[in-house]
Amino acid sequence: MKSLALLHASQLVTLAGPKRPRVGKELAELGITRDAGILIRDGKIDIVGSSDEIEKKSKGAEVVDLGGRVVLPGFVDAHTHLVFAGDRLDDFERRARGETYEQIAKAGGGIWSTVERTRAATEDELLKQAKKHADWFLKCGTTTVEAKSGYGLTLEDELKILRVMRRLNDEMPIEVVPTFLGAHAVPRDTSADKYVDLVINEMLPRVASEKLAEFCDVFCERGYFEVEQSRKIFTAAKKLGLKLRGHVDQLTNSGGAKLMADLGATTADHLEKTDEQGIAALKAANVQPVLLPGSVYALGSTSYPRAREMIEAGLAVVLATDFNPGSSPTPSMPMILSLACTQMKMSPAEAITAATINAAYSLNRGEKIGSLEPGKLANFSVFDCEDYRELAYWFGISQTHAVYVRGENVVRF
Ligand SMILES: [Zn+2]
Repeated sequence: MKSLALLHASQLVTLAGPKRPRVGKELAELGITRDAGILIRDGKIDIVGSSDEIEKKSKGAEVVDLGGRVVLPGFVDAHTHLVFAGDRLDDFERRARGETYEQIAKAGGGIWSTVERTRAATEDELLKQAKKHADWFLKCGTTTVEAKSGYGLTLEDELKILRVMRRLNDEMPIEVVPTFLGAHAVPRDTSADKYVDLVINEMLPRVASEKLAEFCDVFCERGYFEVEQSRKIFTAAKKLGLKLRGHVDQLTNSGGAKLMADLGATTADHLEKTDEQGIAALKAANVQPVLLPGSVYALGSTSYPRAREMIEAGLAVVLATDFNPGSSPTPSMPMILSLACTQMKMSPAEAITAATINAAYSLNRGEKIGSLEPGKLANFSVFDCEDYRELAYWFGISQTHAVYVRGENVVRF
């Protein structure tokens, strides 16, 4: 039996608490242990306590001195588009010059350019780039990521992306939770209705029979997939045993939050334009909101979702990066913590809860990860600071010192 004792953390942020997502005032309760240690056996957390206590019980264990640093559970990023080919540097520069989305699309940019490059890439080429992205996430302290397909938009290309995620899971220490987002955009050579039929009749059955995804997502927005088209896809996915997450109310308040509530979805994501009725519907149906301030920031918008109202309404808020080449090119959860505090007026503690234990529950993994409690996987990150609030406070620099997955040190600076 392999054991590891880590001693002398200035703050061990445990997130210990009820075995469910945290709401209301609970979001600010981090369960911090000071001058703390942690004992790990066989990749799982055995004991969390004072440094003295752990030292006494560490006989036979490899000992690591944390030197007064802060330890957090590995971040759980519940919304990313991890697998794609190329980048969107030209779009980025055009947007900086003030061009509109329409002008950028006309110049050959937008999502379609990523779809073309992703279709042209082989599975091995996609895997190589995805590994680079996965490595970035680990270096930022993230040990679990949800990842969506959606840059293939044909049966074979969507399957290719999902297979890359499966290989990523086998070959990298980060855990990838796969989501099928075949309905990310309508391909240029077909109509939305015809494409919805393809997603329902051909893509979803293959994804389900090959067990390539745990969740189904749809980009529900005017001009992409309307509410009724989205409902058809989600209903079919649910029948096949997939759970639901949805891109809703990002650009317009189209009733997307209510749709996710009607369907009993696990999460409703984006919600920049969701109003109080939408918030009430999410509350009534126990749907977790996944807020993505990185995309608001990177698009140069100021229309952040109403995080405070959601917390006050009792929603189990989640924060995620929305990592993607077009609208949120960041794998950094500390950057998201900074945006949550400065732009959405969440406290540092609330933001950390939203990026760890609440995110873990939104991926059906709340029993295994998201907090540092006995029996859970030893997934955690060590940061070069003495107070957890520094993570959200200093921005634009990495404070990661080391990252552990199942008790193995996978990143060290
Ligand atoms: Zn997204």
